[in-house]
Amino acid sequence: MDALLVGSPVNVQYLSGFAGSSGLCLVGPDHRSFLTDFRYVERADEEVGEGWSRPEPSYLLWRDALGLMPDGAKVGFEDASVTVRELEGLRAAVGDRLEILPAGDLVEGLREIKDAEEVERIRAAAAMADGVFQWLVEFGFVGRSELEVLRACEVRITELGAATSFPPIIAAGPNGAIPHAEPGDYTIAEGDLLTIDMGVQLDYYCSDCTRTYAVGEPSDRAREVYETVLAAQSASLLAVEAGASCSAVDAAGRELITEAGYGPNFGHGTGHGVGMEIHEAPRVSQAATGDLRSGQVITVEPGIYLPGELGVRIEDLVVVTEDGYENLSSLPKELQIVG
Ligand code: ZN
Ligand code: ZN
Repeated sequence: MDALLVGSPVNVQYLSGFAGSSGLCLVGPDHRSFLTDFRYVERADEEVGEGWSRPEPSYLLWRDALGLMPDGAKVGFEDASVTVRELEGLRAAVGDRLEILPAGDLVEGLREIKDAEEVERIRAAAAMADGVFQWLVEFGFVGRSELEVLRACEVRITELGAATSFPPIIAAGPNGAIPHAEPGDYTIAEGDLLTIDMGVQLDYYCSDCTRTYAVGEPSDRAREVYETVLAAQSASLLAVEAGASCSAVDAAGRELITEAGYGPNFGHGTGHGVGMEIHEAPRVSQAATGDLRSGQVITVEPGIYLPGELGVRIEDLVVVTEDGYENLSSLPKELQIVG
């Protein structure tokens, strides 16, 4: 490949610094061009870093970018985000002058490894989210609907000058058994388990954390399920270090859940990468093929879901290091009984 066309907004921002919605990068061993249209010229002046050439603004970014390449060049495109229609347009524009080929997730691969500044941003987002969790516990749950808790959470994060990194999950009682439940009218009552899965986006970086609380005194069953998930989460965390296979981190916790008889009730992967996007590489699951590397930021979030009854998930956000991990989540994990 002589050059790579990068058009997915988050990858454009990662490479160039430009956070607007209309930008395109053309990058190669000796080539760095950033293209945008008339509306974003001033923003690009401010945000695009050193070392980028800036062709004239245009509304035909892709055509103009390809026009920069010499005849016969091989140009890669991001096949995860370019649509079939866009690809046909590209091919029609270049005819047989250039070779256009799928390039996979090259920028996503770079984004997996966070530098110190990126880790600091994620750490700050996680710390803010931890504060919101504690604020919510003081706000109180009994007698409130899931939606009421959701709105309070969103207002709080806005007041702190940030945004949610994804729509928060507030799932009480039987709704906790739905891993990605949408908050609704359900009124939270004594005896419910309450799962809150929430994160903050700050300075373009995301955090992600889940805690399951006991609202009032939990049942024996709820306690048993909680302790099983906590043991599994601890076991998976212990397996995290550079060089460990992602599937082994998943297996470490999954085995405990399976031994306790809840294997079929843990139907999702153990974790995922977090960065500029809430879900990014790597995946930490049974099917994952890669190994962890130092500098990746991943979640560890096993769960058990008993349909119609209850659910428990515990999620921490950690930085992978050479000999283990650094936990960015500071909240306690022993079962918290709240009001
Ligand atoms: Zn989460
Ligand atoms: Zn997550």
